[in-house]
Amino acid sequence: MQYDHLLVRYGELTLKGTNRKMFVNQLKDNVKRALIPLSGYHVKGKRDRMYIELSPEADINEIIQRLSKVFGIKSISPVIKIDKNEEKINQSAIQLSHDFEKGSTFKVDVKRVDKSFRLDTYELQRQVGGAILKENNNITVNVKNPDYEIKIEVRMDAIYIYEKVIAGAGGLPVGTGGKTLLMLSGGIDSPVAGIEVMKRGVTVEAIHFHSPPFTSEKAKDKVIELTRILAERVGPIKLHLVPFTEIQKQINKVVHPRYTMTSTRRMMMRISDKVVHQINANAIVNGENLGQVASQTLKSMYAINHVTATPVLRPLLTLDKEDIIKKAKELGTFETSIQPYEDCCTIFTPKNPVTEPDFDKVIKYESVFNFDEMIENAVENIETLTIDQNYKSAKEQSTDSLIKDLF
Ligand code: ATP
Ligand code: MG
Repeated sequence: MQYDHLLVRYGELTLKGTNRKMFVNQLKDNVKRALIPLSGYHVKGKRDRMYIELSPEADINEIIQRLSKVFGIKSISPVIKIDKNEEKINQSAIQLSHDFEKGSTFKVDVKRVDKSFRLDTYELQRQVGGAILKENNNITVNVKNPDYEIKIEVRMDAIYIYEKVIAGAGGLPVGTGGKTLLMLSGGIDSPVAGIEVMKRGVTVEAIHFHSPPFTSEKAKDKVIELTRILAERVGPIKLHLVPFTEIQKQINKVVHPRYTMTSTRRMMMRISDKVVHQINANAIVNGENLGQVASQTLKSMYAINHVTATPVLRPLLTLDKEDIIKKAKELGTFETSIQPYEDCCTIFTPKNPVTEPDFDKVIKYESVFNFDEMIENAVENIETLTIDQNYKSAKEQSTDSLIKDLF
């Protein structure tokens, strides 16, 4: 079937009253960016829906696949656009019906916005249904529970005919909801947490703490790859890599072994707070989940959160682990997250971290050393990468150019 347009339906943004124009424009930008470097399409964003005109050479499956990751899209339909000619309606509907399985049932559903069209809804349904039956002797009509539904929209500008409705990612267009800093660890949870906030239209920059040489280059590459996967949905993402070795060593020197985890998280939070201000973000996001591990009891969150007045968003707070894993699989981050490269926390994790840290003790242990200068130093030495969906690590790039030189 040769479709000539994609019909893109908006999600919740239709509810957004006066902001609607801004939402539509942002979505249009996001759609265009998601389709780079494909060709053979033209995006037209209208008030109530978007049309993507396709030329014959367009890779429609690839375009749909990319669009299905863009937030703010409720659903997508490949459509045939025709002028208001009854014979053409029949021909197009018959073409669609050729894809129906033998012995299946169908119905024709008409939406008639242009009230001046000669046939009314019921007449058009009957006429097209009749034309389809005449051409196919192995399918029947079932109005209540059909296998296929041919939809005909008689609009003011043209008639649109389609059958498939493909679910979009829902949510709001990224870029309409402010900016956050995502604490991205390389584990299963934090990438999912990031995607959850992106879905609400929020722009995300990521921060990762690493402790070379205790953590390897591979662990860093894993975080880069996770950022790249997130970038498939929203375009380029900034990843701030924080050198954390000195701070971790110092924590291990001065803090009671059972409390090092708590202090580590507090230092991460202090640094994140500084970066939030530097990048003009308004919140921190992390993958914490109530009760999962030692650092994630309420008492622990209290002690960790105490270092910042910035809102800390925890989109996974109340989910069950198996639901987070399911989401990670659906979102395509799971396989990367479970690669076994050590994270800065795993290496320095005490055998028996306190699960219910006593806040006064936390303060007491940390007071032995003034961490301010180390924190400043770590912030000053942040390495920031901009990762887009086609990003390759420096290593891959050099291998690529070596191969190129060979040929
Ligand atoms: P995750 O699967 O996201 O690693 P987790 O269940 O392993 O989560 P923790 O390791 O306790 O939980 O981390 C809690 C949160 O703290 C993470 O979700 C992440 O947001 C943040 N975090 C932990 N380690 C790092 C790190 N090295 N860099 C940046 N953020 C981190
Ligand atoms: Mg972790």
